[in-house]
Amino acid sequence: MNTKEIIHAIREPDEKFIKRHMARCKHFTGIQNKICLKGVVYKEVQDGTTFPCFTGNSYIQPNDKCELREFPTKEEAVATLENMNKRTKSLLEGKCPDCGAKLIDDAIEEGKYAGHGCYICPVCKKVKMQI
Ligand SMILES: [Zn+2]
Repeated sequence: MNTKEIIHAIREPDEKFIKRHMARCKHFTGIQNKICLKGVVYKEVQDGTTFPCFTGNSYIQPNDKCELREFPTKEEAVATLENMNKRTKSLLEGKCPDCGAKLIDDAIEEGKYAGHGCYICPVCKKVKMQI
């Protein structure tokens, strides 16, 4: 991770981010997936170009076809960003954001992709960051 990426990753909870976060349903997982965290099938609630998972988004118009949709409050949006920043800082310090263990740096040392690789937690046994 270079300095530019680090600066980009850690940002203060500004109004623009908070507004954008509040306009997205808490259960939304991305339209590359079939269902949301509540098990709602995206295709079943999509109506033409409208979608219930967003509100106040200029590109996607909302509809009310989902009864389970829930938008974060301002406090929840701020908490989410603060948590993301906390996790990023932990990764930059080489520590697992979930358990605090020192991460194993599995970067490629030579060749075209030198410096790229994974940071793996020896306790959680999972890749925590890929660069
Ligand atoms: Zn861990």
